[in-house]
Amino acid sequence: MFATLSDRLTSTFKNLRTKGRLSEADIDATVREIRRALLDADVAVPVVRAFTGAVRERALSVEVSGALNPAQQVVKIVNDELVAILGGENRPLRLAKNPPSVIMLAGLQGAGKTTLAGKLALHLREQGHTPLLVAADLQRPNAVTQLQIVGERAGVPVFAPHPGNQGHGEVDPGFGDPVGVAREGLAAAKARQHDVLIVDTAGRLGVDAELMAQAADIRDAVQPDEILFVIDAMIGQDAVATAQAFADGVDFTGVVLSKLDGDARGGAALSVASVTGRPIMYASTGEKLTDFEVFHPDRMASRILD
Ligand code: GDP
Repeated sequence: MFATLSDRLTSTFKNLRTKGRLSEADIDATVREIRRALLDADVAVPVVRAFTGAVRERALSVEVSGALNPAQQVVKIVNDELVAILGGENRPLRLAKNPPSVIMLAGLQGAGKTTLAGKLALHLREQGHTPLLVAADLQRPNAVTQLQIVGERAGVPVFAPHPGNQGHGEVDPGFGDPVGVAREGLAAAKARQHDVLIVDTAGRLGVDAELMAQAADIRDAVQPDEILFVIDAMIGQDAVATAQAFADGVDFTGVVLSKLDGDARGGAALSVASVTGRPIMYASTGEKLTDFEVFHPDRMASRILD
């Protein structure tokens, strides 16, 4: 991901290396190239506009300093602005003062929610937490089984409606009622002293009102400490509109970028934090449960500018 963007920006900076001083025309030419590189990478137009405006303004007002040559100064400015659109600093997961903490996952079908549920469960378990996964995605026949497989791999139990309740002995909360399942899952987490509950929810192929209403009902039933919106970085320009729809519909608190291992342009996904004002908290980088990273805007920016 971001290979082309990375190459384009790097070659833009290369052209500056021979310059002793940057004229306004040099800066404008550079900013134009940066704009084109970002647009070609699918970064959302308003984000590109704000980004290039900030870079231009800072580059024009830069003092000639002994420490950095003009090219290095521009790289530093672009780096800082990339970090800013990616959300500044990593925002750690907010956990409840009185466990269990509730983390709800939302996103389109195929975004990578169920996979992410397993990755997050494993990550939290490795940090000493005792998560419980809840299968509240009852739209796809296979979703419950898929979460159970993922839970088994992560070594984390799964609360699921009949017929997949794995013999935990809970009362069948009623297959077909995801809100009920989520509520029962929360009760089970309390009873069994799990300190984190991860609720997987259903996605549709496109944003629709019924999906949003269901996600909002689940949210109201379990009062999450975090609602993580999982977005497939491969979906391109649609990422921003989808994120906005979920921000309006369920008011998520953080973003997870999935499929960052793909070779799509990825810029739209990079715009999501900036457009919605919600931080990117994690990145999913493959199908294995260990293909998971805590998202650090500064590290991602350096990777792009490497
Ligand atoms: P859900 O419908 O949102 O629950 O999405 P899934 O978790 O079922 O993922 C959909 C597909 O994407 C599955 O085939 C996953 O194996 C795959 N997938 C999920 N996350 C990633 C990722 O980070 N990278 C890649 N390459 N594939 C992923």
